[in-house]
Amino acid sequence: MKLSARSKLIKPAVTLALAAKAQALRAQGVDLANFTAGEPDFDTPQRIKDTAIVALKKGMTKYTDVRGIEPLREAVVAKYAREYGLSYTKDEVLVSCGGKHALYNVLQATLDPGDEVVIPAPYWVSYSDMTLLAGGAPKLVQTTEENGFRITPEQLKAALTPKTRMFILNSPSNPTGTGYSRDELMALIRVLERHDCMILSDDIYEKIVYEDFRFHNIVSLQPGLRERTILFNSVSKTYAMTGWRIGFAIGPAAVIKAAGTIQSQSTSNATSIAQAAAVEALNGPQDEVTAMVREFEARRDFVVARLKAMPGLSCYNPQGAFYVFPNVRSLFGRKWKEKTLATPADVVEYFLEVARVLCVPGEDFGSTENIRLSYATSLAELEKGCDRIEAAIKKLA
Ligand code: PMP
Ligand code: GLU
Repeated sequence: MKLSARSKLIKPAVTLALAAKAQALRAQGVDLANFTAGEPDFDTPQRIKDTAIVALKKGMTKYTDVRGIEPLREAVVAKYAREYGLSYTKDEVLVSCGGKHALYNVLQATLDPGDEVVIPAPYWVSYSDMTLLAGGAPKLVQTTEENGFRITPEQLKAALTPKTRMFILNSPSNPTGTGYSRDELMALIRVLERHDCMILSDDIYEKIVYEDFRFHNIVSLQPGLRERTILFNSVSKTYAMTGWRIGFAIGPAAVIKAAGTIQSQSTSNATSIAQAAAVEALNGPQDEVTAMVREFEARRDFVVARLKAMPGLSCYNPQGAFYVFPNVRSLFGRKWKEKTLATPADVVEYFLEVARVLCVPGEDFGSTENIRLSYATSLAELEKGCDRIEAAIKKLA
């Protein structure tokens, strides 16, 4: 069967592929420490589940407005007013099947062939492939670990050309956990003010932040950027609702409308009862979020300390999200059976074979030196996995 040229431009999301592999190995009885999953291990709070059950019992089982039910778009508007002092209308909100789908729709609605999309690397795997699917050209800008994987204003300035259609910001970031401070964002804003491109701000990890780090919304820092910025958010990570598939795009009505039209010709609305549940997630008490983040922070402290203490590994201490992205370069050249480790993928394979630990290699995130570990798993699992990685490193020749 002939496949489209478009389908050959992209590869499966390595994040999802390896999470599925971990589940399959466990189903076969393999005692695996699984660090792949980019999703909270906590259950969705009961009040949210109960709301979905009530919606189901009430018969909320039909198509909804393609853009999302009014109470949900109003809840998103209220959230941005309450938390960031921003005034959006419900015509400036699109509810999609996850933040990923919201991004996809907006990229489809805004990119033309040849349009460049500036993406700081390491980056979440889907930004580049979704850009390619929309006919755009990803322009990856390599950040350095010394700079905490942050794009500098100079790098951003150099990357912006007349062909640049947009810049994608993700703070805190997947896969590095890097969060941009107010000053760091202001420095980027000063560059962006001088270049007329769109800004896509993927704020999906806004609530999962640690210690004294504060998340800042780019539009509330510089309201002048409002007309060319699209914000992305989701209930997936904040409320442990990855499977419910509800995310949002928030931005100027014209873009939201065009993205909604694309959605109307593809998936139609996001699931009706999941939308009802998302209203409760956004409007209800937020205590569970605080408790979950406190737990993630304890795990971050644990896993960063363990990885840093291992000979040959270095590890950036993230400000948010639930990933660490240790550098494994110094393991390159070490030997295992007849094989010599040379890439992050080799290291991941070695840890899987010898330690029964599964991580995600850095290549598809745009790194040739790092691997990603998700610590959205129990402390016991983290301890088991770290013990095994440490022992496996000692075995290398
Ligand atoms: N953005 C980032 C940075 C992510 O890590 C993810 C993965 N969960 C998403 C967007 C999409 O999440 P979802 O579709 O579950 O809302
Ligand atoms: N974003 C999560 C991850 O990076 C979930 C998988 C995905 O959507 O790609 O693991």
